[in-house]
Amino acid sequence: MQYKKVEKDYFIYVEKNEKVMETITRFCVEKGIRNAKLSGIGAVRETEIGAYDTVAKEYIRKEFSDVLELISLEGNVTLKEGSPFVHAHVVLSDHQMSTLGGHLFETTVAAVGEFFLREFDGDAHRELNADVGLPCICLEDKF
Ligand code: ZN
Repeated sequence: MQYKKVEKDYFIYVEKNEKVMETITRFCVEKGIRNAKLSGIGAVRETEIGAYDTVAKEYIRKEFSDVLELISLEGNVTLKEGSPFVHAHVVLSDHQMSTLGGHLFETTVAAVGEFFLREFDGDAHRELNADVGLPCICLEDKF
């Protein structure tokens, strides 16, 4: 992984064979990044994505071993149990240029992983919302 910082922006290059979520989460921990906006493109393999079943309150998960084009990753960083937590969604395409996408659990860079992260000076964190069944973002202080 390589990166360059200019003011609050980080240009992050996740290299071949590095895991995207693991690398970016570790980067946020090391840099003390609590909140951020994240985006990226590249080519990946061994990808696990999902879709949230709001009735069962669990993710439907699916793994793809093939190399896929990372058309777009959009995400954010918030605090979950005091540590940076990356939440990202992806659109991917195969060699027929067909797209698929979902909530990203993990993926590994197959060729290049080019990301931009903009740090946000906030303290947004996640707390379990029993109605939704997920740790949801809290933007307001609760006293
Ligand atoms: Zn999601």
